[in-house]
Order: sequence, then structure tokens, then C-alpha cells
Amino acid sequence: MKNMLEIKNLHASVEGNQILKGIDITIKPGEIHAIMGLNGSGKSTLANIISGSDNYDITKGKVHYNDKNLLDLSPEERALQGIFMSFQYPAVIPGVNNTYFLKAALNAKRKYQGKIELDAIDFMALIKDNLKMLEMDESYLRRSVNAGFSGGEKKRNEILQMITLEPKLAILDETDSGLDIDALKIIAKGVNNYRNADRAFLVITHYQRLLNYIEPDVIHVLIDGKIVKTGGKELALTLEEKGYQWLSDNSAKSAN
Ligand code: ADP
Ligand code: MG
Repeated sequence: MKNMLEIKNLHASVEGNQILKGIDITIKPGEIHAIMGLNGSGKSTLANIISGSDNYDITKGKVHYNDKNLLDLSPEERALQGIFMSFQYPAVIPGVNNTYFLKAALNAKRKYQGKIELDAIDFMALIKDNLKMLEMDESYLRRSVNAGFSGGEKKRNEILQMITLEPKLAILDETDSGLDIDALKIIAKGVNNYRNADRAFLVITHYQRLLNYIEPDVIHVLIDGKIVKTGGKELALTLEEKGYQWLSDNSAKSAN
């Protein structure tokens, strides 16, 4: 099968500090990949670069999405072509109603794909189904985007956005603390129910717990801007048991 995302030897820096030091990841449609790593290892940097933040200097390497140079596309274009990113610290958009925001985003995408735009009635039917699935109250629709939301509510809202926008590549950059089991389960449900043969996920997490609910096909461990190990889902359990130190020791040895 063709590759969806191909990251080769990616090096990136911020203000002269090298943060990513040669990342290789290949994701095929239908796959779930997890990136695990301690705080500061470069996980969000990688996610931001894929979704289109221009705060980074790409100093070496390439990123291809469906055989196109992803780095040539604007963030808007990436979203229209099916890349969705849930942020570690979701933005608050006061005064912008959730329903309005989602309908506008979905219709922009449908228009881009040459599909007809959904009218208010069809959109409400779709969104109500999605809300039910996520056990969310309809009052969400009347609230502003993320304003006054608790951490768990923001995460649910992002999963609602994700499933409504039907991305091809969804990147979930999780906050490492403060998520209760309910919020974890909602995220997992969003991923598990919406995985299909055309859709891929990149799930970023600091800790193993989320991976009790989502079964990734591939796990990459990121330490200091490099992937030091790639393996199957059992790698999460080994990490839980031995800690990241186990791999830091290995990578230090192989680097010398
Ligand atoms: P993670 O998501 O794994 O915790 P990040 O990608 O957020 O890691 O950060 C990796 C490293 O890059 C950290 O040392 C962080 O301080 C640094 N960094 C990230 N973004 C910036 C920035 N905009 N300016 C300066 N340093 C940054
Ligand atoms: Mg991060």
C-alpha cells in the first residue's frame, strides 16, 4: 500500500537550537502510530511541523504527504487535504460558537473536495449523532469554542471536531497530566471507532496509560530529538516496566 506520510531524516531548530535531530517515520493509511517520550524530547515540535506551524527552521530532511511535499503547503491547505491536529493546549476562541465553527470548517473542506455543502438541518443531524457517540450534551453546541471548558471538556470537544471533520491523518498531542480516565476513554473511543482503512493516527503521549485503551500498530520512542526505538505495542509495556532510562542508556552507548 502507498505511504500516507513519509518523514525522512527530519532536522529542525528553533532560534538556532537543534530540536529534531533526524526523524524517520513512515505511516500508511489505516495505521495507528504512537510517539512516546519524556517532556522536552521534541514530540510537540514534530506534531507542529506536520500540521504547519512556521515557528521552526527545517534544516535537513523531508516530509511527504500523499507523495507531495508537505512543507510547501500552508496550514490551511494541509487541513483541507485531511490533516487534523488536536493541540496539547487547545486554543480558546471566545465569541465563536462551537456549532458555527464546526459547520464552517466542515463546509470549507467539503467545498474543497468538490462536495456539496451541508445545510443547517443536515449538519445538525450529523453533529447530534456525533455528540451522542461521545456522550456529550447538546448544550456544547451553544457554547463558545473552548471558553470556560475544563481540560476534559476541551479534549472531548477536540474529538468531536476530529470525527466531524473526518480527517485522513489525525494527530493527537496529549497533555501529559490532568486527564482523568473518562477523558482518556473518550479519546480512545474517538480513535478506535474512527479508525478505518483510509485513516491514520499519530497519537502522542508521555505515558503508557493511554495505550491501554488505544492499540497502536507502531510505537516510536523519541529521546532528545531522535527516535531511539521503534516497535510494536508491547514496547509501551516494556517502557512502563523499565522506564525511559533503559533506552537513554542504549542510545548513549550506540552514539559513542
Ligand atoms: P515535548 O512535546 O516532547 O515535550 P517540545 O517539542 O515541546 O517537546 O520541545 C522540545 C524542546 O524544544 C524543548 O527543549 C523546548 O524547550 C524546545 N522548544 C520547543 N519550542 C520552542 C520554541 N518555540 N522556542 C524555543 N525552544 C523551544
Ligand atoms: Mg508536547
